[in-house]
Amino acid sequence: MPSPATERQQPRGERIIPGLWRLRLPLPWSGIPHANAWVIDAPGEDAGHILFDTGLHTDESFAQLVEALAQIGKRVEDTRLLVCTHAHVDHYGQAKSVVDAAGCEFWMHPRHEHMTESLKDPERLLEQRVAVGRESGVPEELLQYYREAGSAEKPGVSGLVTPTKDLVDGVKVETAVGDWLVVETPGHAPSHVSLFQPERRILLAGDHILGRVALYYDYGWTPDPVEEYLSSLDRVENLDARLCLPGHGKSFTDVRGHIEAHRDTALGRIERVEDVVRAAGPATAIEMIPEIYGRPLNKENAGWLISETMCYLRHLEHRGIVTRGDDEDPRWTAVPRA
Ligand SMILES: [Zn+2]
Ligand SMILES: [Zn+2]
Repeated sequence: MPSPATERQQPRGERIIPGLWRLRLPLPWSGIPHANAWVIDAPGEDAGHILFDTGLHTDESFAQLVEALAQIGKRVEDTRLLVCTHAHVDHYGQAKSVVDAAGCEFWMHPRHEHMTESLKDPERLLEQRVAVGRESGVPEELLQYYREAGSAEKPGVSGLVTPTKDLVDGVKVETAVGDWLVVETPGHAPSHVSLFQPERRILLAGDHILGRVALYYDYGWTPDPVEEYLSSLDRVENLDARLCLPGHGKSFTDVRGHIEAHRDTALGRIERVEDVVRAAGPATAIEMIPEIYGRPLNKENAGWLISETMCYLRHLEHRGIVTRGDDEDPRWTAVPRA
């Protein structure tokens, strides 16, 4: 019997409906054991397939992708088109490997610089992280530690590849199970799109909505990712999907209920951050994070929580509810209520 830990590491391919499969690809992350990729037959006979997302790049990941595809009787070479829902490592990481192996087209949203700029210039990514750390109130001596840890990190991406076509509103992806319409859904990432199949009312949602609510926003690329995220939730709610294919975890049917849960969680956190600034301010993001989430910052959660919190703070700043000092004094203060 394989142990649960080994079991979790296995790639799997499973059919969802005729012509559409889920690939469950292992991730080396605690708390997020897998990423999904989706395979849909291309239109026409023996026309190969379209791959949506790729999983993260590691030493074993390409063999795992090949194995998951083999379980559903497919070969990576028969990929006619690769579509990425967004340019995060666990969705885009193997894009270059797939494009090289299949010689296929690659479609993604054009606002992918949050990933591709750092691949062109890894030093810049590191410096940006340090800048965000400083803005959040990370002490100087810890920033040095950030630099050292960051430069040793494996990127999770097999190489830089840029899209052959921009996935923007109005673009259609033709498949054997119908056309999928691109719906731009920025917020989780500036490059995020969802794809909707209107006849079957299936939403391929990337990380925009998941089975279990997990909110994340890329900080520093657009003025107010939280506002974008909330607008994107409204957009997909209006589609009235009945089946959701998420970026992680199993497909689910109560799409509206899941959208509401994500919205409620985001609005609850915005409120919580405002309350904590009112009670604790002037204070830095770093000082407030343990109070906001009810748990201490550590090496594993720091990147995620700092980014998420800074996004809520900027959102509240945009709404005129809180203000920040300056680069010398990155503390947040609530604006007195009128
Ligand atoms: Zn993501
Ligand atoms: Zn993801």
